[in-house]
Amino acid sequence: MKIHHAFRKIVAPTLALLSLIAGAEESKPWMNPALGPDERAQLVVAQMTREEKQTLVFGFFATDAPWKKYSAAAEARPGSAGYVPGIARLGIPPQWITDAGIGVATQGGAKEKRGRTALPSGLATAASFDPDAARGAGAMIGAEARASGFNVMLAGGVNLVREPRNGRNFEYGGEDPLLAGVMVGAQIAGIESNQIISTVKHYALNDQETNRNTLDVQIDRDQAHMSDLLAFKIAIERSNPGSVMCSYNKVWGEYACENAYLLTQVLRSDWGWPGYVMSDWGATHSTVKAANAGLEQQSGYPFDDQPYFGGQLLKAVAGGELAEARLTEMARRITRTMFAKGVVDHPVAIGPIDFAAHAEISRAAAEGGAVLLKNAGAILPLYAGIARIAVIGGHADKGVLAGGGSSLVYPPGGNAVPGIEPTSWPGPVLYYPSSPLRAIQKLAPRAQVQFASGTDRAAAARLAAASDVALVFVTQWNGESVDKPLILEGGQDALVAAVASANPRTVVVLETGGAVFMPWIDQVPAALQAWYPGSSGGEAIANLLFGQVNPSGRLPITFPRDESQMSRPALAEKDAQGKPTLEVNYQEGAAVGYKWMDAKKLQPLFPFGFGLSYSNFGYSDLAVRTEAQELVVSFKVRNLGKREGKDVPQVYVSPIAGGWEAPKRLGAWRKVALQPGATETIELRVDPRLLAIYSTAINGWRIAPGSYKVMVGGSAADLKLESTVQMAERRLPDGYTP
Ligand code: BGC
Repeated sequence: MKIHHAFRKIVAPTLALLSLIAGAEESKPWMNPALGPDERAQLVVAQMTREEKQTLVFGFFATDAPWKKYSAAAEARPGSAGYVPGIARLGIPPQWITDAGIGVATQGGAKEKRGRTALPSGLATAASFDPDAARGAGAMIGAEARASGFNVMLAGGVNLVREPRNGRNFEYGGEDPLLAGVMVGAQIAGIESNQIISTVKHYALNDQETNRNTLDVQIDRDQAHMSDLLAFKIAIERSNPGSVMCSYNKVWGEYACENAYLLTQVLRSDWGWPGYVMSDWGATHSTVKAANAGLEQQSGYPFDDQPYFGGQLLKAVAGGELAEARLTEMARRITRTMFAKGVVDHPVAIGPIDFAAHAEISRAAAEGGAVLLKNAGAILPLYAGIARIAVIGGHADKGVLAGGGSSLVYPPGGNAVPGIEPTSWPGPVLYYPSSPLRAIQKLAPRAQVQFASGTDRAAAARLAAASDVALVFVTQWNGESVDKPLILEGGQDALVAAVASANPRTVVVLETGGAVFMPWIDQVPAALQAWYPGSSGGEAIANLLFGQVNPSGRLPITFPRDESQMSRPALAEKDAQGKPTLEVNYQEGAAVGYKWMDAKKLQPLFPFGFGLSYSNFGYSDLAVRTEAQELVVSFKVRNLGKREGKDVPQVYVSPIAGGWEAPKRLGAWRKVALQPGATETIELRVDPRLLAIYSTAINGWRIAPGSYKVMVGGSAADLKLESTVQMAERRLPDGYTP
C-alpha cells in the first residue's frame, strides 16, 4: 500500500518527466549534455534555417540610443551592452551581454543603473601578480553577471600598455605579455567558471584611444607576435575564452574586424582556438569581407551604420557572394561555444547577490594590488594612536575614483561625488561611496581626523602644519575614447608640494588610471599607488596605511620620469597638417615599457615589478638547470622583516649574445606569503617562448643556442642574483602552448 502510494506521488511523475525529457532529447538530440560541444553544434545547426543562422550572427545594442532613434528590444537586459536573440524552437537561449572587466557595468545612457560590486581596475589586479586572486575576483563578477541575467561578459582586456597615455590602460593587464596574459587569463577562467562566456579583447593592437576608429597600426609582424599577440595568446591558452572581440583600429592596413591574418591565420590556423569572434561596438565595416576574414558576429547594432550581418548578409548569401557554408560555420562556432561553456545547459536567471561577501573580495583585491612606492624612514604604517591626521584632496571624504567608459560599474550606493565633468560619455566621473576618511577614522578612533578639499592650497597647508601626519589624495580620471598626458590636473602637484612643505610627514595616495609624473616625489617620504581601487577602495587604502594589511602589489607598468623617456614622446594624434593621424608606427616593436627603458639605458621614476612592503625580503641559492630542454630556476626567498608579508620575486632572462628587442624579459614570477624569518624555496619554469625569437619566416619560435643570463630580483631594476645557463637550439610552432 505504502509503496503504491509512493509510486503514485513520486515515482510516476518522475518517470513521466523523464520520458518527456527523453522525448525532447529524441527530437532535440543536441540538448543531450552527454554529447560533446562539437557534435551538439553540428546537430543543431543542421536544423537551422538560413534566417535562424543569421539571427545568431547579428547582435543588437541593448540600451536605447535616441541619437540613432533606436529602442532596445524588450527581451534585452535593460541598460546593457548587447543582445542576440535566441532560437526558442531549437532551445538556443538569447545571448545577454554585459561589460566588463571590473564587474557588471551599466551603459551611461541607461535610465536605471544596476548597482553592482566593482573590482579595482584591471591594472590593479595585474599589480597583485597573483593569478589565484585574479581568478577568484573573476569568479565573483561572473557570479554577479549570472545573477543579473547575463550569459556573455565582455571581460578580458589584454591590450598591452604600450602608450602610457592610453585612457583605457586601467582596464588592461600592464606592459608585459607574460604578466598580462597570465593575469587576464586567470580572470577570464574565473568568470567562465560560472558557465557563462567571457570575451578577450580588443584584438589587436588597440593601444591608444585617440583616433581609435581610423588609426592604422604599423608594427613589425614578428615584433607584434612577441608583444601584443603573445599577451593574447597566453590569455587565450590559459582560459580558452568563448569569444574574442576584434578592435576598432586597422592593423597593417586592414580593419581588425576584417583582418584575415589576425582573425583566421593567427587565431584559428596557428593557435587552433575554437571560439567565435565578435566585433567591438561599431567596428564592423563590411559583410562579405568581414565574414570571410573570420568575423562571426556583428555586435551592438546600430553602432555600425549598416546591418552588415543583418539583412545585408542574407542578401549576400542569397546572391551567392557569401557562401552559405560560411554562415553555417559562423552559427556553428557560436552555438558550439554556448554548449561548451554551459550557456545552454545552465540557463542564467536573475537572482540574489551577496553584496557583503563580494565587497570583501573587492577589498582584498584592492589591497593585493596597491603598490607602496616610497616609505622613507618607515613613516608607514601609521600608528593607530596618532593624535591628529589631516586628510587632503581627492574627495577622500566621500569616496574613491573609478575610470570612465563602457566598463564603468555603478555601485549600489550611487555616485558619491556627482556632477564632475564630464557628466556624460566617457563620463560620468564616478566615485564609489567608500570613503577613505571614514575608514581612517575607524582605524584611529581616538585621532582627530580632519579633511581639507585641497581647492584652497593655503588652507590645506595650514591643516597639514597643525597635524601629525598629512595624507594627500591625488586623482587622475581617465576613460575610454580619450588619452591623457601623465599629469595630475587641477594644480594637484602644487598641492602636494605645499602640503609637504608645511608638514614633512606627508603621505601621497594616488588614484590614477596608470603612471603619472611625480615632480614632488623627493619632497614626500611616502607614496601609495592605489589605482582605481574599486567599490571597497576606501577601506583597502586605510587598511594598507595602518598596516592592517601589508602592501604586496608590484608595478605592472613602468613609471617614466617624463615624456622624453617614452617611446613616443608625443601622442600620435595629429599629422603635420593638423589633421588626425591615420597611422601610428609602433617602431619600438616588442620593446615595450621596461624593455624600452633597458634598451635605451634609461632610469625610470619607478621600474616595472617594483613595490615595497612593511617587511623586506632576501634572495639566495640561485640554481638554474635545463630539464627536457626547459629552463628551470630555483632560489630561496626569506622574509627578513618583523611582520608577515608577501613578496614577488621575479625571474628575468637575457641572451649573452644579445639579439632580442631588449636586453631582458620577464621569464617567471611567484607571489609568496612568508612569516617573519621564514624561508621558502621557489622553483619556476621559464616559458620557452620567452627565451625565443618569433619569426614569420619559420612560422614559429626559435631559441638560439648559446648562453643565457638568468636573474632574480625584486623588480626589473633590482636584480639580486645572477647565473648563466646554456640553452640548446629549439624550435616551437606558432601555436606552441607550454
Ligand atoms: C568598447 C568595448 C565594449 C563595448 C560594449 C565599446 O565601446 O570598446 O570594450 O565592450 O563598447 O559596451
